Amino acid sequence: MNLKTNMLLIEDDKNTCSFIITALAKCGYHVIPAYSGEEGLRLAASDCPDVILLDLGLPDVDGCEVLKSLRCRNHTPIIVISARTTEYDKVQALDLGADDYITKPFSLAELMARIRACLRHKYTCSPGRFYHALGLNIDLESGTVSLDGEIVHLTHVEYQLLSLLAEHSGCILSYQYIMNAIWGPYTDDNNQILRVNMANLRHKIERNPARPQYLFTEVGIGYRMRENESTDISPE
Ligand code: CA
Repeated sequence: MNLKTNMLLIEDDKNTCSFIITALAKCGYHVIPAYSGEEGLRLAASDCPDVILLDLGLPDVDGCEVLKSLRCRNHTPIIVISARTTEYDKVQALDLGADDYITKPFSLAELMARIRACLRHKYTCSPGRFYHALGLNIDLESGTVSLDGEIVHLTHVEYQLLSLLAEHSGCILSYQYIMNAIWGPYTDDNNQILRVNMANLRHKIERNPARPQYLFTEVGIGYRMRENESTDISPE
């Protein structure tokens, strides 16, 4: 993690590119720019970036197609940075495998925070995985969940839901992504079963389910779990 982080920035707008490159360089990131979708795909394969920043409005290929191709090839975190601000666009990008979505104009502080979250996730989601935040501990190897030292008893589905969110903590998971991951691709579009399980889960792990500290709703899009604070990949 101390090695210099390589970022691939796929963005055709030269001004945006130079702004991001300059800003990230100051924070110690090395940024490789790609000004088209094709160039981005080529550099993603040849340069093995740690994180990919992807604009959706590209001159040659639609960014969603680039996203699909990138996701088919590997699990590098992808943050979409787009001027498309509708819920539909965000949901579509997240369903296609984006780890996060930032709308333009964005603040540099927000971009940096999202990048750090993606990197933390990339480096903590390895064998011996452990989630810890504000007294909530999840041992993703043994499947044990505890809150303030007390074991929390979850149903099988509740645990699947919690562990999925914990493994992607800090990132938004769309309703459809979660539905597919837990109930399979053939469930209908009704998210009722997900909402019921999420409500039950919140009653078990949130101190005040009405003001969640762990499981946040991204209205109309999906859920995001509080970032993992565990820097140690093992529970000891
Ligand atoms: Ca563009």
